[in-house]
Amino acid sequence: MSGPRFGRRTVGAIVASCLLLFAGCANQPTARTPPRATAGRSPSGTGQPGSDPSPTAAASASDPAPTPTPIATPAATPKSTPAHAPVIVIDPGHSGRSIRSRNAATGLTDFDYPNEPEMTEVFGISLCVAADLRKIGYRVVLTKKKATSTVSLTRRAQIADTVHADLAISVHDDHTQTDSFQAVYSQRGVKHHGRYHAMWRGDGADRTVFNHPGVARKSAHYARLIAAARRRDQHRPVAITEENFTGRSGLEPGNLALVQLLTRVPWVYSESGARTGGSTTRRITTHDETLYAKGILDGIVAAVPVKGARPESTVALRRCIARHRNG
Ligand SMILES: [Zn+2]
Repeated sequence: MSGPRFGRRTVGAIVASCLLLFAGCANQPTARTPPRATAGRSPSGTGQPGSDPSPTAAASASDPAPTPTPIATPAATPKSTPAHAPVIVIDPGHSGRSIRSRNAATGLTDFDYPNEPEMTEVFGISLCVAADLRKIGYRVVLTKKKATSTVSLTRRAQIADTVHADLAISVHDDHTQTDSFQAVYSQRGVKHHGRYHAMWRGDGADRTVFNHPGVARKSAHYARLIAAARRRDQHRPVAITEENFTGRSGLEPGNLALVQLLTRVPWVYSESGARTGGSTTRRITTHDETLYAKGILDGIVAAVPVKGARPESTVALRRCIARHRNG
């Protein structure tokens, strides 16, 4: 079951409450409290190996755990946007500084690290997708204010919950993978031997399972639509699959991204292979960034339609992408 729903508010009020919440949202290294409705611990279920797409770059265990920079959630939605317009949260991957803290509700380690050039690329893509969504009638909230903003995974999930996002999407790319790797991950996972299994993170008493089946079904439905749009726009197969964090240094074991586990809203996690010219550090081309952005944009519109909304053309999107690459 999903958590309590509140009445719709204006984006201004949402942003204000978001900012107010920040004082109480910081990760506190306090004693663990019982799990909230978002995710419950369960001793059952096992993780299955899946693809392991994320870069291996990691912060050392001795990195300090900085206080994430409070972000002023962008509130650029035009005043004319109707109050009933869908709310989309776009979550550009990674943080400007390494962060390692503990999620108070679950005991799970909240760990992330800077990752360039991915961080800059996916932030530009997110800005361009957000700008067009706002133009065609959506309310949009980004989880980061700048490419280098540091925002914990816990806080990202809280932002989406606070604004009651109809859909949240994490945008990543992976410079260790070629463009044959294209994937989306939902909160439902994929069937193993004909059945869905637990989506989870953590060991022992910290093992935390995502237990909002209605949200998971929506997430899976949206993931299918986003994968289909990305396939059309990127002209490449896009897998709907599961992650595998088990055995990766610094990360809790399991099969679900922490942002997807800690939230109560449908969340899709998007990845795209980005190795360019055989290098793991060279930026992807404007063309590839544009097609990835277009796929995400069309996927969001397909998943959460607004009557009469016509997304930006690839040409127009390319201008936005090029502007951000040069800016
Ligand atoms: Zn990433």
